[in-house]
Amino acid sequence: MDDNDDADLSPIIMLIKFPRLRKLSARNRKENTNLEVDTKLLQEMLKFGSLKSNSLPIEKLNIYHYYMDFEPHLLAYQKTWNKLSIHPHVELDIRHCGYLPDDQKETELEQELSLLEQRIQRLQTQQEGQRRATQEQQPDDPRFKSRIDRCQRILCVDAQCWSCGYHFEHCWKCVPVCQGCKGKRIPPMANDNQIRLKYRRQLQSKHQPMADEDEFSVFR
Ligand SMILES: [Zn+2]
Ligand SMILES: [Zn+2]
Repeated sequence: MDDNDDADLSPIIMLIKFPRLRKLSARNRKENTNLEVDTKLLQEMLKFGSLKSNSLPIEKLNIYHYYMDFEPHLLAYQKTWNKLSIHPHVELDIRHCGYLPDDQKETELEQELSLLEQRIQRLQTQQEGQRRATQEQQPDDPRFKSRIDRCQRILCVDAQCWSCGYHFEHCWKCVPVCQGCKGKRIPPMANDNQIRLKYRRQLQSKHQPMADEDEFSVFR
C-alpha cells in the first residue's frame, strides 16, 4: 500500500500498521509528529529487535506541518530512517533552511581553513611517529560550530511562492523577499492558503462560462 494518509495516526503508528509502505504521507499532524520522540521510539525498537536495520522498504516520508520551527533532531531522525530502510537514503519532505548570513561566510571559510590546518598538523604528528592524536576534540570541532551558525529552521522541500511559483531555498525569516517576483514573503501557512485561493479562483473562472450557459438556458 502506498501513499496512505489516515488523518489521526502518527507516522510511526502507520508504519507499524503498514510495514510494507514505500511512501508514507502524514503531513499536517502537528499533534502526532514529534521528531525527538519518534527517533527515540524507532531506536528502541531497533535495540530490542522489534525492527531490524535494512529491513523496511520505506523510500519517502512526508511529515511537514506548519508549526515546525527549529528542529534539532532532524539529523538523528534522518539517520534512523536510513538505518531502518533497505534504501541508503530515505527522502524527507523537510530540511533545514541552512542560510548563512554574508558576514558569517568569511568566518566559515576561516573555520574550514583552521580545520584543515589542524588536520595537516595531526597527520604530521602521526608521520613523525610521535604520540598519536587519539583525543578527538568533538565539541570544539569548528565544523560542528559552523553548522550551528547556519539557520536551523525547518523548510518544506516543495515550498514555493504563491504569487510566482518560485521554489524557496531558505526560510521566510532569513530571505524575506521572494527571489522570483521580489514580493514580500508571508509565513508558510498564509503562503499556501494563497496558493489554494488562487487555484480555486482559476477553477471558478474555468467553470464560469458553463455557469453562464446554464443561466442562459433558464431564460430560453
Ligand atoms: Zn532560515
Ligand atoms: Zn515570488
